[in-house]
Amino acid sequence: MSNDLSAPKLLVGRELRVTRKVTLIFGCPKCTNDLDVTSITGKATIECLKCNNVTWLPDYQPPWWSKLKTFVLSLVVSFLVGVISSIAGTYAWVKIHNVNNKKIELEQNKESK
Ligand SMILES: [Zn+2]
Repeated sequence: MSNDLSAPKLLVGRELRVTRKVTLIFGCPKCTNDLDVTSITGKATIECLKCNNVTWLPDYQPPWWSKLKTFVLSLVVSFLVGVISSIAGTYAWVKIHNVNNKKIELEQNKESK
């Protein structure tokens, strides 16, 4: 259907690689034939190649939980980053202050004896 795309001519640099390809398939409501609608935008009138059924291509809408999933995932990631950084900060603080406390304790012991 849309296989008439031509690759650009490579002049200088590494060879071209396809990193991602998305194909949108729409099932015909009459004969369930799979139609490649990658190059067709939503809310268009289309005709099935197999049964000539005319139908409307709906606009793609992501499911309602799609944005919620991204939001929850970002919350979890930021929480984990906060926990890890606070653990690292506390560990460094304790390391630094334990050394100083031991020196002070040793000095106090020497003075008291
Ligand atoms: Zn059809």
